[in-house]
Amino acid sequence: MANHLYDALFGVHRGNRKPFLILPDGTEITYDAFLRQAARFAHALAACGVQTGDRVAVQVDKCPEMIALFAACAQSGAVFLPLNTAYTPAEVSYFVENSEAKLFVCAPEKADDLAPVALACGARLETLAHGRGSLTDLAATQPETFETVARGPDDLAGFLYTSGTTGRSKGAMLTQDNLLSNARTLVDVWRFSSDDVLLHALPIFHTHGLFVATNVILLAGGSMIFLPKLDVDQLIDWMPKATTLMGVPTFYTRLLDDARFTGDLAAHMRLFISGSAPLLAATHEAFEARTGHRILERYGMTETNMNTSNPYDGNRRAGTVGQALPGVEVKVCDPETGQALPVGEIGVVQVRGPNVFKGYWRMPEKTAEELRADGFFITGDLGRLDADGYLTIVGRNKDLIISGGYNIYPKEIELLLDAAPGVMESAVIGAPHPDFGESVVAVLVPEAGATPDLAAIAAALDGQLARFKQPRRMVVVDALPRNTMGKVQKNVLRETYKAIFT
Ligand code: ATP
Ligand code: MG
Repeated sequence: MANHLYDALFGVHRGNRKPFLILPDGTEITYDAFLRQAARFAHALAACGVQTGDRVAVQVDKCPEMIALFAACAQSGAVFLPLNTAYTPAEVSYFVENSEAKLFVCAPEKADDLAPVALACGARLETLAHGRGSLTDLAATQPETFETVARGPDDLAGFLYTSGTTGRSKGAMLTQDNLLSNARTLVDVWRFSSDDVLLHALPIFHTHGLFVATNVILLAGGSMIFLPKLDVDQLIDWMPKATTLMGVPTFYTRLLDDARFTGDLAAHMRLFISGSAPLLAATHEAFEARTGHRILERYGMTETNMNTSNPYDGNRRAGTVGQALPGVEVKVCDPETGQALPVGEIGVVQVRGPNVFKGYWRMPEKTAEELRADGFFITGDLGRLDADGYLTIVGRNKDLIISGGYNIYPKEIELLLDAAPGVMESAVIGAPHPDFGESVVAVLVPEAGATPDLAAIAAALDGQLARFKQPRRMVVVDALPRNTMGKVQKNVLRETYKAIFT
Protein backbone atom coordinates (compact mmCIF):
# COMPACT_ATOMS: atom_id res chain seq x y z
CA MET A 1 0.00 0.00 0.00
CA ALA A 2 1.15 3.52 -0.64
CA ASN A 3 2.85 5.23 2.25
CA HIS A 4 4.08 8.71 1.31
CA LEU A 5 7.07 8.89 3.66
CA TYR A 6 8.02 5.24 4.07
CA ASP A 7 8.06 4.50 0.33
CA ALA A 8 10.33 7.44 -0.51
CA LEU A 9 12.77 7.22 2.39
CA PHE A 10 12.89 3.51 3.08
CA GLY A 11 10.88 1.24 0.75
CA VAL A 12 12.80 2.42 -2.30
CA HIS A 13 15.96 0.80 -0.88
CA ARG A 14 14.68 -2.77 -0.75
CA GLY A 15 17.42 -5.02 -2.10
CA ASN A 16 19.99 -2.19 -1.99
CA ARG A 17 23.33 -3.68 -0.90
CA LYS A 18 24.99 -0.34 -0.28
CA PRO A 19 25.99 0.50 3.30
CA PHE A 20 23.45 2.78 4.96
CA LEU A 21 25.20 2.90 8.35
CA ILE A 22 28.90 2.52 9.11
CA LEU A 23 29.48 1.97 12.83
CA PRO A 24 32.54 3.09 14.82
CA ASP A 25 33.94 -0.46 14.89
CA GLY A 26 33.77 -0.55 11.08
CA THR A 27 30.64 -2.75 10.86
CA GLU A 28 28.50 -1.84 7.87
CA ILE A 29 24.72 -2.21 7.79
CA THR A 30 23.38 -2.33 4.25
CA TYR A 31 20.12 -0.68 3.31
CA ASP A 32 18.62 -4.08 2.67
CA ALA A 33 19.63 -5.49 6.07
CA PHE A 34 18.38 -2.32 7.72
CA LEU A 35 14.97 -2.61 6.03
CA ARG A 36 14.61 -6.21 7.08
CA GLN A 37 15.34 -5.24 10.67
CA ALA A 38 12.88 -2.34 10.44
CA ALA A 39 10.16 -4.76 9.26
CA ARG A 40 10.87 -6.95 12.28
CA PHE A 41 10.45 -3.93 14.50
CA ALA A 42 7.17 -3.09 12.75
CA HIS A 43 5.92 -6.55 13.72
CA ALA A 44 7.23 -6.05 17.26
CA LEU A 45 5.28 -2.77 17.51
CA ALA A 46 2.12 -4.56 16.44
CA ALA A 47 2.82 -7.29 18.99
CA CYS A 48 3.01 -4.55 21.65
CA GLY A 49 -0.45 -3.37 20.67
CA VAL A 50 0.69 -0.25 18.79
CA GLN A 51 -1.85 0.80 16.18
CA THR A 52 -1.94 3.33 13.37
CA GLY A 53 -1.65 6.85 14.80
CA ASP A 54 -0.36 5.73 18.22
CA ARG A 55 2.63 7.55 19.65
CA VAL A 56 5.79 5.59 20.37
CA ALA A 57 7.97 7.54 22.83
CA VAL A 58 11.64 6.61 22.66
CA GLN A 59 14.42 7.62 25.06
CA VAL A 60 17.40 5.50 24.12
CA ASP A 61 21.06 6.02 23.36
CA LYS A 62 21.88 6.60 19.73
CA CYS A 63 22.00 3.24 17.94
CA PRO A 64 21.02 1.80 14.53
CA GLU A 65 18.01 0.12 16.15
CA MET A 66 16.57 3.52 17.01
CA ILE A 67 16.56 4.50 13.33
CA ALA A 68 15.04 1.09 12.52
CA LEU A 69 12.30 1.93 15.01
CA PHE A 70 11.68 5.23 13.19
CA ALA A 71 11.37 3.28 9.93
CA ALA A 72 9.09 0.75 11.65
CA CYS A 73 6.82 3.53 12.89
CA ALA A 74 6.67 4.99 9.37
CA GLN A 75 5.90 1.58 7.86
CA SER A 76 3.20 0.73 10.39
CA GLY A 77 1.65 4.21 10.56
CA ALA A 78 2.68 4.90 14.17
CA VAL A 79 4.04 8.28 15.27
CA PHE A 80 7.71 8.34 16.28
CA LEU A 81 8.43 10.49 19.33
CA PRO A 82 12.11 10.62 20.28
CA LEU A 83 13.12 12.14 23.62
CA ASN A 84 16.34 13.78 24.72
CA THR A 85 18.51 11.22 26.52
CA ALA A 86 19.45 13.79 29.15
CA TYR A 87 15.90 14.14 30.45
CA THR A 88 15.39 12.87 34.00
CA PRO A 89 12.53 10.49 34.88
CA ALA A 90 10.51 13.45 36.17
CA GLU A 91 10.91 15.24 32.83
CA VAL A 92 10.24 12.10 30.83
CA SER A 93 7.09 11.56 32.82
CA TYR A 94 5.68 14.86 31.51
CA PHE A 95 6.40 13.91 27.88
CA VAL A 96 5.04 10.37 28.07
CA GLU A 97 1.92 11.51 29.85
CA ASN A 98 1.38 14.61 27.71
CA SER A 99 1.78 12.69 24.45
CA GLU A 100 -0.43 9.82 25.67
CA ALA A 101 2.14 7.44 24.23
CA LYS A 102 0.98 3.85 23.83
CA LEU A 103 4.48 2.47 24.09
CA PHE A 104 7.53 3.89 25.85
CA VAL A 105 10.91 2.50 24.83
CA CYS A 106 13.85 3.25 27.13
CA ALA A 107 17.47 2.18 27.64
CA PRO A 108 17.77 -1.19 29.43
CA GLU A 109 19.77 0.48 32.24
CA LYS A 110 16.95 2.92 32.96
CA ALA A 111 14.07 0.45 32.96
CA ASP A 112 13.90 0.18 36.76
CA ASP A 113 13.76 3.95 37.22
CA LEU A 114 11.29 4.46 34.41
CA ALA A 115 8.90 1.58 35.04
CA PRO A 116 6.82 3.68 37.49
CA VAL A 117 6.66 6.49 34.90
CA ALA A 118 5.29 4.15 32.23
CA LEU A 119 2.86 2.62 34.69
CA ALA A 120 1.53 5.99 35.85
CA CYS A 121 1.05 7.10 32.24
CA GLY A 122 -0.59 3.88 31.13
CA ALA A 123 2.14 3.20 28.55
CA ARG A 124 3.69 -0.18 27.92
CA LEU A 125 7.44 -0.21 28.65
CA GLU A 126 10.06 -1.93 26.47
CA THR A 127 13.83 -1.49 26.29
CA LEU A 128 16.23 -0.94 23.42
CA ALA A 129 19.97 -0.61 22.89
CA HIS A 130 22.44 -1.73 20.24
CA GLY A 131 22.00 -5.50 20.01
CA ARG A 132 20.09 -5.67 23.31
CA GLY A 133 16.81 -4.88 24.98
CA SER A 134 13.39 -6.46 25.20
CA LEU A 135 12.09 -4.84 22.02
CA THR A 136 15.21 -5.90 20.11
CA ASP A 137 14.74 -9.46 21.36
CA LEU A 138 11.08 -9.44 20.41
CA ALA A 139 11.92 -8.09 16.95
CA ALA A 140 14.55 -10.80 16.42
CA THR A 141 11.86 -13.50 16.32
CA GLN A 142 9.62 -11.66 13.83
CA PRO A 143 9.31 -12.01 10.03
CA GLU A 144 11.52 -9.76 7.92
CA THR A 145 8.82 -8.37 5.69
CA PHE A 146 5.88 -6.30 6.83
CA GLU A 147 2.92 -5.12 4.84
CA THR A 148 3.28 -1.36 4.71
CA VAL A 149 0.30 0.53 6.12
CA ALA A 150 -1.19 3.14 3.79
CA ARG A 151 -0.44 6.71 4.89
CA GLY A 152 -0.90 9.99 3.09
CA PRO A 153 1.04 13.26 3.02
CA ASP A 154 -1.08 14.86 5.73
CA ASP A 155 -0.86 12.02 8.24
CA LEU A 156 1.30 12.50 11.31
CA ALA A 157 4.75 10.94 11.10
CA GLY A 158 6.74 12.56 13.85
CA PHE A 159 6.10 14.22 17.10
CA LEU A 160 9.00 16.18 18.50
CA TYR A 161 9.15 18.32 21.59
CA THR A 162 10.92 21.66 21.20
CA SER A 163 14.16 22.14 23.11
CA GLY A 164 12.53 24.12 25.92
CA THR A 165 14.90 27.09 25.60
CA THR A 166 12.22 29.72 26.11
CA GLY A 167 9.88 27.82 28.41
CA ARG A 168 8.17 24.46 28.67
CA SER A 169 8.78 22.22 25.64
CA LYS A 170 5.89 22.04 23.19
CA GLY A 171 4.97 18.93 21.20
CA ALA A 172 5.21 19.76 17.50
CA MET A 173 3.11 17.55 15.23
CA LEU A 174 4.89 16.90 11.95
CA THR A 175 3.22 15.29 8.99
CA GLN A 176 4.71 12.88 6.49
CA ASP A 177 4.93 15.62 3.91
CA ASN A 178 6.45 18.14 6.33
CA LEU A 179 9.37 15.75 6.63
CA LEU A 180 9.54 14.49 3.07
CA SER A 181 9.15 17.81 1.28
CA ASN A 182 11.90 19.35 3.39
CA ALA A 183 14.27 16.41 2.90
CA ARG A 184 13.70 16.62 -0.88
CA THR A 185 14.52 20.30 -0.89
CA LEU A 186 17.66 19.83 1.19
CA VAL A 187 18.98 16.97 -0.97
CA ASP A 188 18.53 19.24 -3.93
CA VAL A 189 19.98 22.49 -2.60
CA TRP A 190 22.90 20.82 -0.81
CA ARG A 191 23.50 18.47 -3.79
CA PHE A 192 23.41 15.20 -1.87
CA SER A 193 23.79 12.02 -3.92
CA SER A 194 24.31 8.31 -3.34
CA ASP A 195 28.06 9.02 -3.40
CA ASP A 196 27.82 10.99 -0.18
CA VAL A 197 29.12 9.72 3.12
CA LEU A 198 27.93 11.87 6.01
CA LEU A 199 29.88 12.08 9.24
CA HIS A 200 27.00 11.82 11.72
CA ALA A 201 27.84 12.69 15.33
CA LEU A 202 24.62 14.54 16.22
CA PRO A 203 21.98 13.21 18.58
CA ILE A 204 19.03 11.57 16.80
CA PHE A 205 16.35 12.71 19.25
CA HIS A 206 16.51 16.21 17.75
CA THR A 207 15.37 17.44 14.37
CA HIS A 208 18.92 18.24 13.23
CA GLY A 209 20.33 14.71 13.55
CA LEU A 210 17.09 12.92 12.64
CA PHE A 211 14.91 14.83 10.22
CA VAL A 212 17.72 16.79 8.57
CA ALA A 213 20.78 14.55 8.56
CA THR A 214 19.23 11.08 8.49
CA ASN A 215 16.36 11.86 6.13
CA VAL A 216 18.67 13.60 3.68
CA ILE A 217 20.98 10.59 3.54
CA LEU A 218 18.07 8.16 3.20
CA LEU A 219 16.54 10.13 0.38
CA ALA A 220 19.85 10.49 -1.43
CA GLY A 221 20.77 6.84 -0.84
CA GLY A 222 24.13 7.78 0.67
CA SER A 223 25.88 6.39 3.73
CA MET A 224 26.35 7.66 7.28
CA ILE A 225 29.32 7.14 9.54
CA PHE A 226 27.22 6.75 12.63
CA LEU A 227 29.13 7.98 15.69
CA PRO A 228 27.57 7.90 19.18
CA LYS A 229 28.29 11.54 20.00
CA LEU A 230 30.59 14.47 19.36
CA ASP A 231 34.11 13.19 19.93
CA VAL A 232 36.84 15.10 18.13
CA ASP A 233 39.16 12.08 18.00
CA GLN A 234 36.50 10.11 16.15
CA LEU A 235 35.65 13.01 13.82
CA ILE A 236 39.30 13.31 12.88
CA ASP A 237 39.80 9.55 12.49
CA TRP A 238 36.76 9.12 10.25
CA MET A 239 36.96 12.33 8.22
CA PRO A 240 39.09 10.77 5.45
CA LYS A 241 36.20 8.38 4.70
CA ALA A 242 33.51 11.10 4.66
CA THR A 243 32.37 13.65 2.11
CA THR A 244 30.17 15.86 4.32
CA LEU A 245 29.66 16.89 7.93
CA MET A 246 26.61 18.38 9.64
CA GLY A 247 27.16 19.88 13.08
CA VAL A 248 26.22 22.47 15.62
CA PRO A 249 28.72 25.34 16.01
CA THR A 250 30.53 23.49 18.83
CA PHE A 251 31.63 20.85 16.29
CA TYR A 252 33.50 23.52 14.38
CA THR A 253 35.05 25.30 17.37
CA ARG A 254 36.25 21.95 18.76
CA LEU A 255 37.76 20.96 15.42
CA LEU A 256 39.51 24.31 15.17
CA ASP A 257 40.91 23.86 18.68
CA ASP A 258 42.65 20.68 17.54
CA ALA A 259 45.96 20.96 15.68
CA ARG A 260 45.32 17.63 13.94
CA PHE A 261 42.44 19.24 12.07
CA THR A 262 44.37 20.60 9.09
CA GLY A 263 43.58 21.84 5.62
CA ASP A 264 44.93 18.52 4.29
CA LEU A 265 42.53 16.51 6.43
CA ALA A 266 39.56 18.51 5.14
CA ALA A 267 40.73 19.00 1.56
CA HIS A 268 38.65 16.17 0.04
CA MET A 269 35.43 17.14 1.89
CA ARG A 270 32.54 18.37 -0.22
CA LEU A 271 30.52 20.29 2.37
CA PHE A 272 30.43 21.41 6.00
CA ILE A 273 26.99 22.46 7.32
CA SER A 274 26.16 24.23 10.59
CA GLY A 275 22.92 24.98 12.39
CA SER A 276 20.78 24.79 15.56
CA ALA A 277 22.55 27.76 17.14
CA PRO A 278 24.34 30.84 15.82
CA LEU A 279 27.74 30.24 14.24
CA LEU A 280 30.01 33.12 15.16
CA ALA A 281 31.38 34.98 12.14
CA ALA A 282 34.82 34.55 13.74
CA THR A 283 34.43 30.74 13.62
CA HIS A 284 33.35 30.92 9.99
CA GLU A 285 36.42 32.97 9.13
CA ALA A 286 38.87 30.87 11.15
CA PHE A 287 37.49 27.73 9.49
CA GLU A 288 37.99 29.15 6.04
CA ALA A 289 41.50 30.30 6.90
CA ARG A 290 42.39 26.78 8.14
CA THR A 291 40.71 24.67 5.46
CA GLY A 292 39.65 26.84 2.54
CA HIS A 293 36.06 25.65 3.12
CA ARG A 294 33.26 28.09 3.85
CA ILE A 295 30.83 26.52 6.33
CA LEU A 296 27.28 26.55 5.01
CA GLU A 297 24.96 27.85 7.74
CA ARG A 298 21.23 27.17 7.69
CA TYR A 299 18.30 27.94 9.99
CA GLY A 300 15.41 25.85 11.18
CA MET A 301 13.50 24.65 14.18
CA THR A 302 11.52 21.73 15.51
CA GLU A 303 8.22 23.10 14.20
CA THR A 304 9.38 23.67 10.63
CA ASN A 305 12.51 21.70 9.90
CA MET A 306 14.68 23.91 7.70
CA ASN A 307 13.60 27.32 6.46
CA THR A 308 16.66 29.06 5.06
CA SER A 309 20.11 28.11 3.88
CA ASN A 310 23.19 29.77 2.55
CA PRO A 311 23.72 28.80 -1.08
CA TYR A 312 25.73 25.83 -2.31
CA ASP A 313 27.08 27.92 -5.17
CA GLY A 314 27.36 31.59 -4.50
CA ASN A 315 28.11 33.61 -1.45
CA ARG A 316 27.88 31.91 1.95
CA ARG A 317 27.66 34.99 4.11
CA ALA A 318 29.15 34.66 7.58
CA GLY A 319 26.74 35.77 10.31
CA THR A 320 23.68 35.13 8.11
CA VAL A 321 21.54 32.02 7.81
CA GLY A 322 21.09 32.45 4.06
CA GLN A 323 17.99 32.76 1.93
CA ALA A 324 14.55 31.13 2.02
CA LEU A 325 14.62 27.56 0.72
CA PRO A 326 12.68 26.88 -2.49
CA GLY A 327 8.99 26.56 -1.62
CA VAL A 328 9.44 28.32 1.74
CA GLU A 329 8.41 31.95 2.25
CA VAL A 330 10.21 34.00 4.87
CA LYS A 331 9.14 37.45 5.99
CA VAL A 332 10.16 39.78 8.77
CA CYS A 333 7.21 41.46 10.47
CA ASP A 334 6.37 44.12 12.99
CA PRO A 335 5.72 42.23 16.23
CA GLU A 336 2.74 44.45 17.08
CA THR A 337 0.91 44.76 13.77
CA GLY A 338 2.19 41.65 11.96
CA GLN A 339 2.87 43.80 8.87
CA ALA A 340 5.90 42.89 6.75
CA LEU A 341 8.78 45.31 7.35
CA PRO A 342 11.07 46.89 4.74
CA VAL A 343 14.49 45.41 3.97
CA GLY A 344 17.02 46.00 6.75
CA GLU A 345 14.53 46.42 9.59
CA ILE A 346 14.46 44.04 12.53
CA GLY A 347 11.25 42.18 13.29
CA VAL A 348 9.76 38.78 14.00
CA VAL A 349 10.56 36.08 11.46
CA GLN A 350 7.53 34.33 9.98
CA VAL A 351 7.66 31.33 7.67
CA ARG A 352 5.21 29.48 5.45
CA GLY A 353 5.63 26.36 3.34
CA PRO A 354 5.05 22.62 3.11
CA ASN A 355 7.59 22.21 5.92
CA VAL A 356 5.49 24.04 8.52
CA PHE A 357 4.01 21.74 11.19
CA LYS A 358 0.38 21.01 11.85
CA GLY A 359 0.24 22.53 15.29
CA TYR A 360 1.20 21.98 18.91
CA TRP A 361 -0.18 18.85 20.49
CA ARG A 362 -3.09 19.60 22.83
CA MET A 363 -2.32 23.35 22.79
CA PRO A 364 -5.02 24.85 20.56
CA GLU A 365 -4.59 28.36 21.92
CA LYS A 366 -0.84 28.45 21.49
CA THR A 367 -1.24 26.93 18.03
CA ALA A 368 -3.77 29.61 17.07
CA GLU A 369 -1.49 32.37 18.38
CA GLU A 370 1.59 31.23 16.50
CA LEU A 371 0.28 29.42 13.45
CA ARG A 372 -1.76 32.03 11.59
CA ALA A 373 -4.84 31.30 9.50
CA ASP A 374 -2.89 32.37 6.40
CA GLY A 375 -0.38 29.56 7.03
CA PHE A 376 2.48 31.71 8.34
CA PHE A 377 4.17 30.45 11.52
CA ILE A 378 5.47 33.07 13.92
CA THR A 379 8.87 31.64 14.78
CA GLY A 380 9.58 33.80 17.83
CA ASP A 381 12.99 34.67 16.39
CA LEU A 382 13.97 38.22 15.54
CA GLY A 383 15.74 38.83 12.30
CA ARG A 384 16.50 41.13 9.42
CA LEU A 385 16.46 40.52 5.68
CA ASP A 386 18.89 42.23 3.34
CA ALA A 387 18.27 43.31 -0.23
CA ASP A 388 19.41 39.90 -1.53
CA GLY A 389 17.05 38.01 0.77
CA TYR A 390 19.72 36.84 3.23
CA LEU A 391 18.33 36.52 6.74
CA THR A 392 20.28 37.44 9.87
CA ILE A 393 18.94 36.12 13.18
CA VAL A 394 19.46 38.63 15.97
CA GLY A 395 17.93 36.68 18.85
CA ARG A 396 14.59 35.62 20.23
CA ASN A 397 11.62 37.92 20.53
CA LYS A 398 11.32 36.92 24.19
CA ASP A 399 14.91 38.09 24.77
CA LEU A 400 14.36 41.57 23.31
CA ILE A 401 15.06 44.29 25.87
CA ILE A 402 12.89 47.40 25.92
CA SER A 403 14.55 50.16 27.89
CA GLY A 404 13.05 53.63 28.14
CA GLY A 405 10.96 52.81 25.06
CA TYR A 406 13.96 51.76 22.96
CA ASN A 407 14.41 48.26 21.55
CA ILE A 408 17.75 46.70 22.41
CA TYR A 409 18.91 43.56 20.65
CA PRO A 410 21.14 41.54 22.99
CA LYS A 411 23.14 40.05 20.12
CA GLU A 412 24.66 43.39 19.17
CA ILE A 413 26.04 43.83 22.68
CA GLU A 414 27.06 40.19 23.06
CA LEU A 415 29.16 40.34 19.90
CA LEU A 416 31.19 43.20 21.37
CA LEU A 417 31.49 41.59 24.79
CA ASP A 418 32.58 38.25 23.33
CA ALA A 419 35.43 40.04 21.60
CA ALA A 420 36.57 41.86 24.78
CA PRO A 421 39.88 40.79 26.41
CA GLY A 422 39.49 37.92 28.88
CA VAL A 423 35.86 37.19 27.93
CA MET A 424 35.02 33.76 26.58
CA GLU A 425 31.29 34.29 26.08
CA SER A 426 28.45 36.46 27.28
CA ALA A 427 24.70 36.69 27.61
CA VAL A 428 22.88 40.01 27.70
CA ILE A 429 19.45 40.22 29.31
CA GLY A 430 16.98 42.84 30.46
CA ALA A 431 16.13 43.16 34.16
CA PRO A 432 13.28 45.24 35.60
CA HIS A 433 14.39 48.84 36.24
CA PRO A 434 12.41 51.44 38.19
CA ASP A 435 13.01 54.28 35.68
CA PHE A 436 13.46 52.56 32.35
CA GLY A 437 11.12 49.60 32.62
CA GLU A 438 14.03 47.34 31.83
CA SER A 439 17.74 47.86 31.72
CA VAL A 440 20.69 45.93 30.40
CA VAL A 441 22.61 43.31 32.39
CA ALA A 442 25.63 41.56 30.92
CA VAL A 443 26.59 38.14 32.23
CA LEU A 444 30.19 37.28 31.35
CA VAL A 445 32.09 34.03 31.38
CA PRO A 446 35.85 34.60 31.56
CA GLU A 447 38.42 32.76 29.49
CA ALA A 448 40.24 30.09 31.48
CA GLY A 449 42.43 31.77 34.11
CA ALA A 450 41.45 35.31 33.05
CA THR A 451 39.84 38.03 35.14
CA PRO A 452 38.10 40.44 32.78
CA ASP A 453 38.67 44.12 33.58
CA LEU A 454 35.05 45.28 33.81
CA ALA A 455 35.92 48.97 33.95
CA ALA A 456 38.02 48.69 30.81
CA ILE A 457 35.26 46.76 29.04
CA ALA A 458 32.69 49.39 30.02
CA ALA A 459 35.00 52.14 28.75
CA ALA A 460 35.49 50.33 25.43
CA LEU A 461 31.73 49.84 24.97
CA ASP A 462 31.21 53.54 25.60
CA GLY A 463 32.88 54.27 22.29
CA GLN A 464 30.93 51.60 20.40
CA LEU A 465 27.38 51.62 21.69
CA ALA A 466 24.74 54.26 22.33
CA ARG A 467 24.45 54.91 26.05
CA PHE A 468 21.01 53.29 26.42
CA LYS A 469 22.40 50.01 25.11
CA GLN A 470 25.38 49.89 27.43
CA PRO A 471 25.11 47.34 30.24
CA ARG A 472 24.32 48.99 33.56
CA ARG A 473 25.56 45.95 35.38
CA MET A 474 28.11 43.33 34.47
CA VAL A 475 28.42 40.11 36.40
CA VAL A 476 31.01 37.40 36.00
CA VAL A 477 29.98 33.75 36.30
CA ASP A 478 31.74 30.42 35.75
CA ALA A 479 29.27 29.18 33.14
CA LEU A 480 26.00 30.18 31.51
CA PRO A 481 22.94 28.05 32.26
CA ARG A 482 22.22 25.84 29.24
CA ASN A 483 19.52 23.35 28.44
CA THR A 484 20.23 19.84 27.26
CA MET A 485 20.65 20.98 23.63
CA GLY A 486 23.39 23.34 24.80
CA LYS A 487 21.30 26.48 24.26
CA VAL A 488 21.68 29.37 26.70
CA GLN A 489 18.62 29.71 28.98
CA LYS A 490 18.01 33.41 29.25
CA ASN A 491 14.78 32.85 31.16
CA VAL A 492 16.88 31.35 33.97
CA LEU A 493 19.24 34.35 33.90
CA ARG A 494 16.31 36.79 33.95
CA GLU A 495 14.97 35.05 37.03
CA THR A 496 18.38 35.12 38.74
CA TYR A 497 18.94 38.84 38.14
CA LYS A 498 15.36 40.10 38.35
CA ALA A 499 16.08 42.24 41.44
CA ILE A 500 19.48 43.58 40.38
CA PHE A 501 18.18 47.15 39.87
CA THR A 502 15.77 47.27 42.78
P1 ATP B 1 11.70 26.25 22.67
O1 ATP B 1 10.92 26.52 21.42
O2 ATP B 1 11.11 25.12 23.47
O3 ATP B 1 11.97 27.46 23.48
P2 ATP B 1 14.04 25.98 20.94
O4 ATP B 1 13.39 27.03 20.11
O5 ATP B 1 15.47 26.22 21.36
O6 ATP B 1 13.16 25.68 22.26
P3 ATP B 1 14.52 24.13 18.77
O7 ATP B 1 13.35 23.95 17.89
O8 ATP B 1 15.44 22.99 19.02
O9 ATP B 1 13.97 24.58 20.19
O10 ATP B 1 15.43 25.30 18.25
C1 ATP B 1 15.04 26.20 17.23
C2 ATP B 1 15.69 27.54 17.48
O11 ATP B 1 17.11 27.43 17.39
C3 ATP B 1 15.31 28.58 16.45
O12 ATP B 1 14.04 29.15 16.71
C4 ATP B 1 16.46 29.57 16.59
O13 ATP B 1 16.24 30.44 17.71
C5 ATP B 1 17.64 28.67 16.91
N1 ATP B 1 18.47 28.42 15.70
C6 ATP B 1 18.46 27.36 14.86
N2 ATP B 1 19.36 27.49 13.89
C7 ATP B 1 19.97 28.68 14.09
C8 ATP B 1 21.01 29.39 13.43
N3 ATP B 1 21.64 28.92 12.35
N4 ATP B 1 21.35 30.61 13.93
C9 ATP B 1 20.74 31.11 15.03
N5 ATP B 1 19.77 30.49 15.71
C10 ATP B 1 19.40 29.28 15.25
MG1 MG C 1 11.41 27.37 19.65
